[in-house]
Amino acid sequence: MRLAGKIALITGSGSGIGKAAALLFAQEGATVIVNDLDAQKGEETVQEIVGMGSKGIFIQADVTDPASVQAMVEQTIAAFGHIDVLFNNAGISGVGALHEVEPDVWDRVMSVNIRGVYLPSKYALPHMMQRKSGSIINMSSCIAEIGLAKRASYSATKGAVLALTKSMQVDYAPYDIRVNALLPGTILTPFVENYLNNSYENPEAAIESLKKRQLSGELGRPEDVAKAALFLASDESKLMMGSPLYIDGGVVFGKNA
Ligand code: NAP
Repeated sequence: MRLAGKIALITGSGSGIGKAAALLFAQEGATVIVNDLDAQKGEETVQEIVGMGSKGIFIQADVTDPASVQAMVEQTIAAFGHIDVLFNNAGISGVGALHEVEPDVWDRVMSVNIRGVYLPSKYALPHMMQRKSGSIINMSSCIAEIGLAKRASYSATKGAVLALTKSMQVDYAPYDIRVNALLPGTILTPFVENYLNNSYENPEAAIESLKKRQLSGELGRPEDVAKAALFLASDESKLMMGSPLYIDGGVVFGKNA
């Protein structure tokens, strides 16, 4: 029980990495606030948590909308008194070289992936500061560190999240709040499956070429990232502050050639 008694809010946890983290955190003793845009997927995550004999509730909120995010945080505080862990996981993909990206798509990717980290943090932080305790995990990506084709808007957001994580850590260290970032490589989730299906004529061949970026022979699974998030959420990572944590099968630091 590595999160016994903790209250953890995970954005975008109706699917993929967020869902895997919600199930793992709950299994490790946390009460999990499952957030998503999609009520059906969020409720399904909660049903699985409750089915395991663990605790969780679903709160529907759009992480880009201040009123909706503030209401989610206030509902959490009213129900559980505080927030120990905020995992800013919700995110969307953005495909295309810069000149190919339409302004409305650019703005949407910026909004979900950056504003969607800013707003939940903005409203949760005062409660964490009051208690002088908390762990915030921001979802970046290994694309923050390397150039990849046709991912201009997405890479800009994930680089911003990594930079923001470091600034946040400096501001909130005096309140004993830790802020760290996750940098996954390619993880097989609905997010990636949609991208592969929409962007490639032969998604299977695309998976094989994605594997060539890595030193590991397998693409990551949501559970691999959930385990890294669990470490950052727990007190075991108490000396990790403002750090990027790579879960990328060797994409950033290896060279598979
Ligand atoms: P996913 O399966 O699509 O899950 C993301 C979840 O976020 C979805 O349930 C989505 O809901 C939700 N969401 C989207 N916009 C939202 C909003 N405005 N408010 C609340 N929830 C919202 O994706 P994933 O692969 O698990 O990705 C999770 C995070 O990891 C993202 O930040 C992504 O950038 C990052 N990441 C993923 C990979 C990868 O290879 N999978 C690699 C590096 C980083 P809807 O489905 O209803 O839109």
